[in-house]
Amino acid sequence: MSTEPIATWSRRGKANKNNEVSNTPKRQQWESEYPMVSMAVAIDQILYYTYEMHLARTRGLSTKHNYTEVLSVPKARNRVLAEDVRATINVPSVRTSIMDGFAVCVEALSQTSTQNEPKEYVDFKVVERMYAGGTGGASASPQELQPGECVYVTTGAPVPRGTTVVIKVEDCCPCRELGVPYKADDSDIPEPSQASFIRSQASAAYATPGTFIREVGSDVSAGQIVAKRGQRISPALLATILSAGANQVVVTVPPRITVFSSGDELLTDETELGESSPMIRDSNRPMLLSMIHQEIEGSEATTRDGGIIRDTYDDLVNAINTAIQTSDVIITTGAVSMGARDLIKPYLGEIGKVVFGRIKMKPGKPTTFAVVPRPSQAHGEASQESCLFFALPGNPVSAYVTFLSLVLPALRLLTGFSVDALPAPELLPSIKSKLDQAMQSGNYNESAFSTSLQLPKVTAKLAHDIVIDPERDEYHRLVLTWTPGHNHKQQGEGGYFLAASTGGQASCRLLSVAGSNALGLIPSHLAVEHNMRVIPKDAWIDAWLTEPLNDVQLPAPTLKPGQRISTCGCGSKHEMESSHSSTESKVPSSSETNVRSAQDHHTSSSRIKVSLITVSDTRVPKTDLTGAEARKILESFQDPSPFEVIEARIVKDEQKEIVRCLQESSYRSPGPSRPDIILTMGGTGFGPRDVTPEATREVVGTRIATGIEHFVMKTSLKFTDMGALSRGTAGISNQTIIINLPGSPKAIKEILPALLGILPHAARLIRGSHEH
Ligand code: AMP
Ligand code: MG
Repeated sequence: MSTEPIATWSRRGKANKNNEVSNTPKRQQWESEYPMVSMAVAIDQILYYTYEMHLARTRGLSTKHNYTEVLSVPKARNRVLAEDVRATINVPSVRTSIMDGFAVCVEALSQTSTQNEPKEYVDFKVVERMYAGGTGGASASPQELQPGECVYVTTGAPVPRGTTVVIKVEDCCPCRELGVPYKADDSDIPEPSQASFIRSQASAAYATPGTFIREVGSDVSAGQIVAKRGQRISPALLATILSAGANQVVVTVPPRITVFSSGDELLTDETELGESSPMIRDSNRPMLLSMIHQEIEGSEATTRDGGIIRDTYDDLVNAINTAIQTSDVIITTGAVSMGARDLIKPYLGEIGKVVFGRIKMKPGKPTTFAVVPRPSQAHGEASQESCLFFALPGNPVSAYVTFLSLVLPALRLLTGFSVDALPAPELLPSIKSKLDQAMQSGNYNESAFSTSLQLPKVTAKLAHDIVIDPERDEYHRLVLTWTPGHNHKQQGEGGYFLAASTGGQASCRLLSVAGSNALGLIPSHLAVEHNMRVIPKDAWIDAWLTEPLNDVQLPAPTLKPGQRISTCGCGSKHEMESSHSSTESKVPSSSETNVRSAQDHHTSSSRIKVSLITVSDTRVPKTDLTGAEARKILESFQDPSPFEVIEARIVKDEQKEIVRCLQESSYRSPGPSRPDIILTMGGTGFGPRDVTPEATREVVGTRIATGIEHFVMKTSLKFTDMGALSRGTAGISNQTIIINLPGSPKAIKEILPALLGILPHAARLIRGSHEH
């Protein structure tokens, strides 16, 4: 409860740019003035402004800013290049040997062996020894090789003019000891002065000119760009720059990041906590500082611990104004909600531009992002720089989640992580105008920035139901465990992440974070558009990895940032099936095998995947004649059939059970286990337990396929007027068409063949651009 007198609110409301404060009381507006933006818009707005800053910082030495400096290459490790680096020389600048061996002229080989009858051994006269760096020979640059002559060369040594191949020392032997290889040292290499011979194996491997020779400029040619501005100088890039001849590089001064906590209730980490004290320890600041160190480790960003800002206007103004002068990024936690002492948002509005002040995310709703200008002086000229300001919520879990999802991508961009994946700078104006429109309309699905700036994303299977928040996308803390499938030895196959919640998700409960290794997205639109209250157990969700997966044996290819693990694993499918409740079972079928090859998956992805669900209290797989009939019709529709029955399940006439089964099937990840079409059979009549249409409507919401309903009815009435007594419905859940059919095998025989004529087209339409 707020104890703040109204006068403070008036101060806050009236503060102007000069930090002058009026004493006129003003009522607080409890409705936030900031529109609630979607996560997609929030992330891209942040990245848009960060990218602008990144471009300004990497504009090279000639700008009016203080962003750049010149460093010797070894000192520039992990810095971000502000200018392209061009090779000053060819690499290599002379022809060199890739192997320890003998440089020979290929003409010598062709003279002594024909193509049809390659001679096993060819003799060469050793005329020179040449070591790396050009040392060791009688002359620094050997004479042109003559046929029949050779020069002993070590790896990296220049080869004489006329050399066309280098024969590895392993393929040579001294004449006098035929077949016995040379010793590892060069003690038995014949002396040039003795005009001795070597005997070499003239195998076909040496028929191509250039074998084991690095040609001049073959790695890098003089003038070529070897490192681009904006790139972080990784150890490998540093080596490349050095080898290409550059001595110095123009790099950006590391971004300076200041972290504050805010709140009168906070104690610094050294202070003892008292019993029954209203004071709490400031855990956010140390957490964020260590996350920055961990997450952008090696990027050379500098962090500053700004301390605690107390909940007074003066303290806030002092702290922020000072920090702005010396920071490129400021991160605060707390004081952004609707409480009387939540002063940061309005102050940011006074000194800069609040890009957004509320996000449709849970936790993290009041997260605010602002861009604050600061005057600068560089090279004697006045100009303006800016500071990115992340005001995160005070609750520790909210601070944790918002840092990882919103701040980390920006810090990665600024520190040269994944610059190749950024959009072309010319696109920025159109990105901005789309974003500004989306602030109002909310329509913004496709990110303009690479997801590799974010945490690596995987798809995971829920170990239990999770309730959906209908208003905000929730980032649920999860423990992911890797579960190998039946086929885990096959590349990229069989296995999945099982996602278990860490329990109570209150945003103050740090324990929900401490044991977790992922954040799972529970999207609110499922509740709004699909009327779902929970995401059911066994459904697939997106999850971002927050911890390294050291103990997980990932199938090859291994996980890359931003890459989704393919869920095309039959392992997953079978695991799913084995975890079904006892009311469901599979109809055994000849087409079913426990392990399918990766190749099968690809051919099957073009077929229309059908899930058969028999709704009955009494049927068991053996007596499910309806399911068997449907399968027969589908599989013999054409040769080969465009349909593939991927599962057959039996569910009791319980609305909840049917809903759960429909949702579980239709919300699987795209892949061989997600059906294009679900045919339910049974439970459409007038009996008290006939609830299939009700369950289906609960799942499809407003996405009813009226035409299919009519089609089924019309077809059925051709055979019997009793067809009018079926209440079956049809509609769409996610990207799956659900169609209710009556439960008798006779009705299936009558209706299904007609329906099959329209289903392939319907399936194509619904797959649309999301084709797997
Ligand atoms: P606020 O956003 O300032 O309203 O804070 C929301 C909740 O988070 C309050 O219960 C605060 O006590 C708590 N909180 C704020 N800042 C911190 C912090 N730095 N460390 C731990 N808890 C905090
Ligand atoms: Mg506070």
